[in-house]
Amino acid sequence: MFFDKILENLLKKDFTLDDINSMIGPYDNSYLVYSKNKMIRENAASGGATTIILIELLKNNLIDGALVCKNILKEGKVRTKFYIATTKNEILFSQGSNYVATKFVSEAIPLIREFDGKVGVVGLPCDISALKKRALNDPKLEEKIVLTIALVCGHNSQTKLIDTITNKLENTANSTLKDYRFRKGLWRGELEATFKNKQKISKPFSYFSNYQNLFFFSQKKCLYCFDHFGYDADISIGDVWTYDLKKKGIKFNGLIAKNKKSSLILSNILKRNVLNFEEVDILRILEGQKRAAPFHYNISARHKVGKLLGIAIPDKVKKKIKWHEYISAFIVLINWKWSQSKKYNKYIFKIPKLLLKIYLYLYKGLESLK
Ligand SMILES: Cc1cc2nc3c(=O)[nH]c(=O)nc-3n(C[C@H](O)[C@H](O)[C@H](O)COP(=O)(O)OP(=O)(O)OC[C@H]3O[C@@H](n4cnc5c(N)ncnc54)[C@H](O)[C@@H]3O)c2cc1C
Ligand code: SF4
Repeated sequence: MFFDKILENLLKKDFTLDDINSMIGPYDNSYLVYSKNKMIRENAASGGATTIILIELLKNNLIDGALVCKNILKEGKVRTKFYIATTKNEILFSQGSNYVATKFVSEAIPLIREFDGKVGVVGLPCDISALKKRALNDPKLEEKIVLTIALVCGHNSQTKLIDTITNKLENTANSTLKDYRFRKGLWRGELEATFKNKQKISKPFSYFSNYQNLFFFSQKKCLYCFDHFGYDADISIGDVWTYDLKKKGIKFNGLIAKNKKSSLILSNILKRNVLNFEEVDILRILEGQKRAAPFHYNISARHKVGKLLGIAIPDKVKKKIKWHEYISAFIVLINWKWSQSKKYNKYIFKIPKLLLKIYLYLYKGLESLK
């Protein structure tokens, strides 16, 4: 712990006002929070704040339904399904993060359009922006949306990644998949697969995320994206990866109320004693994302390196690029390119686990540099 603290102080980044404006945009308030309900926390991706906010909106008749996303098995493969939850239990049923491609525009937006009532919406930053864009030209749609919550998002993965991981687990279990959780438990957490022969396999989340974090099988749209926190959302909710919170034994959400409307809704929810909360400086939230957020925002580096690798990425932020940011962008784009090769991508899963870990540490080390 002592060394963790020293390391954390050494790697602390000094974010400027300009960094805040560019990476987060306007905001009203920021908090560290977690659900006071242990059961909700245990089933949550992080501190369960997303679930609590949706339940409270529903309970207090501010919404008639919550647009949520659940992972399901479709022909034995892990996929997602959007639905509008109209009861507390239905909201609870969708807890957790689904790190696999979704079809928000074609599946979720029609659900909201057809729903008879007001909704709260959870989505990834790109999905919330797509919804906002459509709502601008569709007053009926706009009228239905009471609150949007963006999950902080580094990137999402193509189905090939989860399919390969679950195939491997099925071979180990000698059975077919019955249920799958991407991530459970504290800090980095564990994945959990249940099989038809009643076996349950838990593995460190890194069994999946070591590939994911290195951008193997990332969705292509994520290479072009610089929205980490959800510019267009009313509330942004993510994890907080700092060592002082790791030792607390509870997962915290970093929560940003992006405007006066969400700030007011949130302050009413906080009065109801359902969330443990501490109002913090926005820098505390950024510190919890100090590696992923600056990399995500610096699309200029991916633009430059993309040119060399034949991937055309428009530079929408025109940011100065440091030497290590070129290398990080190269790692990400070369890994992505490798994973798109039908002929050679099978070799990704043959990289020895230790080598993969060293490669990831190298990448994370580069991301940590100031
Ligand atoms: C693809 C992806 C990438 C992420 N990357 C980061 C990151 O880099 N850094 C970070 O701090 N946090 C990231 N998160 C967010 C983080 O994992 C948690 O989702 C967030 O902190 C909310 O936690 P919670 O405990 O409040 O959620 P819970 O109370 O468990 O509720 C989660 C809610 O999210 C919804 N949901 C889950 N997956 C999806 C999805 N794919 N699309 C739309 N809705 C969904 C569920 O319906 C549920 O209502 C990511 C999440 C996803 C899905
Ligand atoms: S990184 Fe951007 S484009 Fe990719 S899923 Fe997240 S918000 Fe969407």
